[in-house]
Amino acid sequence: MSGVRELEPVEMRAFRLARLVSAEQMPYFMRALFAAQPVAAPGLGTFAVDARWRLYLDPDLLVGPCAWPVPMVGAVLLHEVGHLLRAHADRAAALAKPIDHLVWNFAADAEINDDLLAAGVSLPEGVITPQSFGCLSGDTAEQYYDYLRDPIAHQTVTELVGAEGDPGCGSGSGCPVVPGELIGSGEVITEGLDNAEADLVRRSIAQAVREAAGTGRGSAPAGLVRWAADVLAPPTVAWDRLLRAVIRRALAEQAGRTNYSYSRPSRRRPRCRDGRSGGSSQSWWHSTRPGSDSGV
Ligand SMILES: [Zn+2]
Repeated sequence: MSGVRELEPVEMRAFRLARLVSAEQMPYFMRALFAAQPVAAPGLGTFAVDARWRLYLDPDLLVGPCAWPVPMVGAVLLHEVGHLLRAHADRAAALAKPIDHLVWNFAADAEINDDLLAAGVSLPEGVITPQSFGCLSGDTAEQYYDYLRDPIAHQTVTELVGAEGDPGCGSGSGCPVVPGELIGSGEVITEGLDNAEADLVRRSIAQAVREAAGTGRGSAPAGLVRWAADVLAPPTVAWDRLLRAVIRRALAEQAGRTNYSYSRPSRRRPRCRDGRSGGSSQSWWHSTRPGSDSGV
């Protein structure tokens, strides 16, 4: 694959048109769709995201004889933004090591795609859904991941692997980086979003989903409504313990015992950002149809 670059004007026009189509389908995703920063990734063969909300778009899929139909581009954009909103990169990092990236890819895609279908988004035939591997909709990627790690269920993963060499949805989905990703490359085409900015967008989208669900506008899927409630839930802080720790530290510092501490290293396992235990991925965009020309 050649180097990542800025989109050319004609490519940018095609991207903007598809983004409008996707925003019309899921208006509560508007801010996220406009926050993600597109770059051209010639030869990628699909779309992907990195953890800084950069969208890697194969320009041949935007313009030219091999271009995807506009609604399909819009659907893929919604899928990729779904990885970012659901913090799949952070959640994958919280899984027990070693991570089975292929399984995580399937699990994360399933978590996204059932909600997209519920929202009326036209996904290509054969995309990964919970039903692809015999599960029900509405569970988390971690639950699907646990299920698919079972040796018997894992056989399903092997059968579902379609397009050979599919690069996945990028580091922003918790998968390995796709060729040309800018993270760590030292190359700056666009800065992307930092964690604080990404969290602001996430909360804004969660609020929009909640409002859409409350008014009946936008037909927010039930899975997304649950996600929004989780994002907007106040953090649970044990204020009494926190206060005691602050007082102890202040007293110790007052007495010149600045290294003194009652605290012990935490033994708790990492938890994913939605509060569920990370327990113990490709692309939705991974087709169950052998030979699919969409690469999905
Ligand atoms: Zn994906």
